[in-house]
Amino acid sequence: MYENRPESPTTASPPVTPRSIVVIGAGHAGAQMAESLRLGGFEGSLILIGDERHRPYERPATSKDLLSGVMEMDRVFLKRENYYHEKKIDLRLGVRVTAIDRAQRKVICDDGDSIGYDNLVIATGARARTLQVPGADLDGIFTLRSLADSQAIGARMKPGARLAVVGGGYVGLEVAASAIKLGCAVTVIEMQERLLGRVVAAEVADFYDRAHRAAGVDIRYGVVIEEFKGAAGAVRGVGLTDGSMIAADLVVVGVGAAPNTELAAAAGLAVENGIVVDDCGRTADPAIFAIGDATNHPNDILGKRLRLESVPAAMGQARAAASAILGAPKPFHELPWFWSDQYDLKLQIAGLSEMGDRVVLRGDPDSRRFAAYYLRRGAVAAVNAINSGKDFLGGRKLIVEGRIVDPARLADPLIPLAEV
Ligand SMILES: Cc1cc2nc3c(=O)[nH]c(=O)nc-3n(C[C@H](O)[C@H](O)[C@H](O)COP(=O)(O)OP(=O)(O)OC[C@H]3O[C@@H](n4cnc5c(N)ncnc54)[C@H](O)[C@@H]3O)c2cc1C
Repeated sequence: MYENRPESPTTASPPVTPRSIVVIGAGHAGAQMAESLRLGGFEGSLILIGDERHRPYERPATSKDLLSGVMEMDRVFLKRENYYHEKKIDLRLGVRVTAIDRAQRKVICDDGDSIGYDNLVIATGARARTLQVPGADLDGIFTLRSLADSQAIGARMKPGARLAVVGGGYVGLEVAASAIKLGCAVTVIEMQERLLGRVVAAEVADFYDRAHRAAGVDIRYGVVIEEFKGAAGAVRGVGLTDGSMIAADLVVVGVGAAPNTELAAAAGLAVENGIVVDDCGRTADPAIFAIGDATNHPNDILGKRLRLESVPAAMGQARAAASAILGAPKPFHELPWFWSDQYDLKLQIAGLSEMGDRVVLRGDPDSRRFAAYYLRRGAVAAVNAINSGKDFLGGRKLIVEGRIVDPARLADPLIPLAEV
């Protein structure tokens, strides 16, 4: 079993009912925290500090509908503009917290302010990893993590633009699909021999390979970037280790994310692939909680610790931590789930694919509606559902129930999931 509680508290306990709460990070987790605190009846001072200049928004849309122009900019925000004012949430945008002083219970900001707290919530999320190769600082090379990144990339996605996407994970493939919609010529460069790493079954990765190629994307497998080539300071191409060169006026590097744990680590909190917290987001300091992509937290359904990059997990953890701060803890209890939208394909994943030992396909990939079930010792461990809400929801239920299934019946889409 995993160890649920972080090591024992090191500082004096905060007041039982906090008067002031500071949240660092105005992303999905931080915004949900502020909302849940007010919904839960917290009436004290509530300060939400974010280093981006936009109020909290739907981060997933930045590679999907917002990037492809299907979504209007004003629909991307989680709340209307005056919500924070109405709820007396002091939203400070464009401000970065540079240090946490645990002894004095205050945070130091880059605008010179220092702000005291009874409870502190660290919701600093993750940042896009970058590539350290020659030419990486040329104009036209981007990573995608924020709305500002999405706007900058979108402004260059003109019809005919040559886009190279480095990395065939979710973000890279969603950018590729959005760029195709906008009329760009797209090449995806993937180091492995397949798309989407280990997060989906090989059959699902093959299906996405075919879908992207059919849409006009060129995919190069098993190659590594050696350098970016430029002219007059702007990118002109991507040099690969096999000696080939891919012409590009725009590059999006989608090679994963790293948790923003530096503030917590510098303050002496435990960090192991994320800030170590329990199932209510508690750190070892009773005044400090951490939630979202930045954390390493226990999942009781899977019986292990995880660091997830998922909106539902960030919001669920925020609700759990808010309940604990307000004195009525309701621990985070949810099977991990994710989604990805590419073209007309909605991929929904429940559970962790890496926990399976065998894959069973249900339905025909050519119909563009099917599912891959991962079994582990005869029970469903994860499901990858493509355009099939039924398989996603039914599969999720099977995972949580832990029932042994008959693989032959599971493979037959005419047999209802409840009877497999
Ligand atoms: C392009 C893209 C597409 C995605 N698509 C999906 C999807 O389809 N489904 C899904 O479930 N998940 C998706 N994700 C992941 C999802 O966005 C994250 O899991 C979610 O945003 C995590 O919420 P969070 O609040 O923990 O972190 P974030 O939303 O990253 O928020 C953290 C915030 O804290 C700020 N911050 C960091 N340090 C400081 C500091 N010192 N001072 C002040 N502010 C600070 C950051 O700038 C950021 O605004 C996607 C992510 C990206 C980038």
